[in-house]
Amino acid sequence: MPFLTDENRRWRDIARGVAEEVVRPVAAKYDQSQEYPWEVKEGIARSGLFGVWIPKEYGGHGGGTLDLCICVEELSRACGGVGVLYAVNSLGSTPIVIGGTEEQKKRYLPRIAAGEVLVAYSLSEKFAGSDAGSLRTPAVKDGDHWVIDGEKKWTTNGGAAHLYTVFASTDPASGSRGISGFLVEKSWPGFQIKKVEDKMGIRCVPVTEVNLDRVRVPESNLLGGITGRGFKHAMMTLDRARPGVAAQAVGLAQGALDLAVVYAKRREQFGVPIASHGMVQQMLADMSAKVSAARYLVYAAAKAIDSGLPSAGRLAAEAKLFATDAAMQVTTDAVQVFGGYGYMKDYPIEKYMRDAKITQIYEGTNQVQRLVIARALVKESGALAHLDKYIPHETQRGVNDLAAAGEGAAGAPRGANRAPETR
Ligand SMILES: Cc1cc2nc3c(=O)[nH]c(=O)nc-3n(C[C@H](O)[C@H](O)[C@H](O)COP(=O)(O)OP(=O)(O)OC[C@H]3O[C@@H](n4cnc5c(N)ncnc54)[C@H](O)[C@@H]3O)c2cc1C
Repeated sequence: MPFLTDENRRWRDIARGVAEEVVRPVAAKYDQSQEYPWEVKEGIARSGLFGVWIPKEYGGHGGGTLDLCICVEELSRACGGVGVLYAVNSLGSTPIVIGGTEEQKKRYLPRIAAGEVLVAYSLSEKFAGSDAGSLRTPAVKDGDHWVIDGEKKWTTNGGAAHLYTVFASTDPASGSRGISGFLVEKSWPGFQIKKVEDKMGIRCVPVTEVNLDRVRVPESNLLGGITGRGFKHAMMTLDRARPGVAAQAVGLAQGALDLAVVYAKRREQFGVPIASHGMVQQMLADMSAKVSAARYLVYAAAKAIDSGLPSAGRLAAEAKLFATDAAMQVTTDAVQVFGGYGYMKDYPIEKYMRDAKITQIYEGTNQVQRLVIARALVKESGALAHLDKYIPHETQRGVNDLAAAGEGAAGAPRGANRAPETR
């Protein structure tokens, strides 16, 4: 694979080994039982993969977003559920890496890197999904503690995780600027896992409601030791995590393509392997091109994040949008290559299609990615100002006078088309 460093390849080989030896043999079993695969988690921990994204000074390997994406891709190639079971620990702990106090980093990150402490990220609520800034769970100060009394929806790793990065409102009047992050431990009184969701895909990893029944959180577990930064930290985390979801999608698409190629060579119809029928070849070729295009976009986005490029946010959203749509198309076509058998649960391919669907939805739906991309394009367009003179400017008597006076041509109030603040 071009562009990868020796270190990137080293992580790829380790993750590929875990995927083939530990994950693939049990993927169908845990998809069916919908139980957390502790044996797989132990295999991942033994290989050192939980430390990839954690800085070296806190017990990790100091790898970048690209290393993380490569590992997520390889695990997802064998099982999309395991891909997120692993990646969600990065999602949950990145707020500590980017916004935690020195003491919080020292207390939690080494144990996360070792795979001893699993993490979850609790931002969404029943009535606050894409519009996460409208979350309502309150956190109220009580002496040297904060009391969180509310519910979070769709916490991936819920119940399995020991630590929950919970976003709550410490100042409801300030809207999203009144949101703060808290590091909440599962063992604390009042912390309860409520509904465990019965899902279409990624079934080996639990997604749950979390009930916080007057949970007392010490001041030392207020993320970064400061209120009002939670939404910023949550959004910065999602910006960095998006290539990870995209990598999950690439892994799923590659895994489905692998199986489709093997099956197309083996299955014979009309006296020849179906791989020699032109229309099957066309499907396989289109699938392969989509996987490669998605992979290189993911790598580019991950590298942009690691290099701190200003365009990193847009690239990450583009990678998430493109790779997850590609995964849905490729996994659907893979089922088509398998024909009727592809629709059956005792064949491994329909699971890829079910697992792929969620990648278009979580960590910001693909509609939200389009909003992020379009806004970034407009923001970055300053360098294109010189092109303006090549585009004719129309004038209309009466109308231009109004516009110059500061009113819209149709008298619309300013800000009527303001884009919503989304995750
Ligand atoms: C399996 C699973 C795991 C999850 N894990 C986590 C987790 O670990 N932590 C966490 O905090 N959350 C998690 N989520 C929540 C997930 O991030 C949200 O489901 C997602 O952000 C969408 O929110 P919503 O479901 O409320 O949909 P809504 O926001 O209600 O959206 C519904 C539809 O409207 C569209 N839409 C909404 N707003 C706009 C807009 N402004 N412009 C155009 N279209 C729009 C959406 O794209 C979508 O198609 C998980 C969800 C699932 C299903």
